[in-house]
Order: sequence, then structure tokens, then C-alpha cells
Amino acid sequence: MNLTVWTVTSDTDNGVETTAHGAEREAYEELKKRYCNTAAEVASFDRHIADGTFAELMDWVSQASDATGDHFSVRSHTIDAAEPSVDPVLDEAYREAAISEYADEGRIEIDSNAVVSHGDDNGAYVAAWVWVDRDDVPLCACGARNDDGEGFDGMCGVCADKAEAAEALKD
Ligand SMILES: [Zn+2]
Repeated sequence: MNLTVWTVTSDTDNGVETTAHGAEREAYEELKKRYCNTAAEVASFDRHIADGTFAELMDWVSQASDATGDHFSVRSHTIDAAEPSVDPVLDEAYREAAISEYADEGRIEIDSNAVVSHGDDNGAYVAAWVWVDRDDVPLCACGARNDDGEGFDGMCGVCADKAEAAEALKD
């Protein structure tokens, strides 16, 4: 599930301060609290917030912040969030079952707060960590893929050719 959050960042006497908000309107209300010093500024913010013309407001704020050397910004961020659980007791029971059924130390690990995604069928997916050994990764030590049939011993074609040439020099 994608969520959008808005952050407000500004320089304050205590350093850079950032807050996150669930709605663009809320973010601009927060910016108003921090930014507005005069009745005219408050009025301008209120008008734009009521209209939802945030881009215009931000232009005005950035011009003002450039002029004064204050720095303010409002940014939107899209995050891929897990579906919030509606039943923590059920989730906990699924985690317990997942751990007893699948957990295998050093191979499959399940966090005590693992995400549980309930399916349409009678069950759920429980997030797990699986260990992958470097030897199973299809990359040569140089970083190139080693599974195109050109190399050997885990080396890519180029590194394998170099190794072969070095070997030939020895003979
Ligand atoms: Zn290589």
C-alpha cells in the first residue's frame, strides 16, 4: 500500500527541525505556525490553505526564505507501507506459528515484530529473513555476473581469461 506523507523542514534556533504530516494541508498549517510573524503573512497562508493552492504558497515562501536566509521546505514522500493490522493478537499468533514452523537459526529468521499480510485465502504471509551465502551470488569478485557460461570457478569470462593467461605464463 502506498502512503504519502508531507514533511516540513526549517532552520530553527535549535537546529534543523523536521515534522511529518499525514495531509498536505496539515503540513502547511505547521509551516504557518513556524513561518508567519505578521498578520498579513497569516492571512496569506490562510487564503492559500483554504484554496488548497499550496504550490503558489510554496513559491511565495521560497522567495521570502531566499530573501531572509531562512530555510523552509515542504516535501511530499511516497512510502510503500505495510497494510496496517486490524488484529494484533491474530498477527502475533501467525508470527508464533511461522517461527515454530519455519524458523531455522542462521538460515530463516522471523522478527518478533514481523509484518503479517493477511491473504484472501485462509492464511497470511509472515515476513522472514533468509540467509544467502556469497558463494551462491552469481557475481565474480570483480562485480560482473559469472553465470553467462564464459567463466569458471566463480569468475566472469574476463577474470577467467586473465587467470588462464597468468597460468599459461607460468608454464
Ligand atoms: Zn570478474
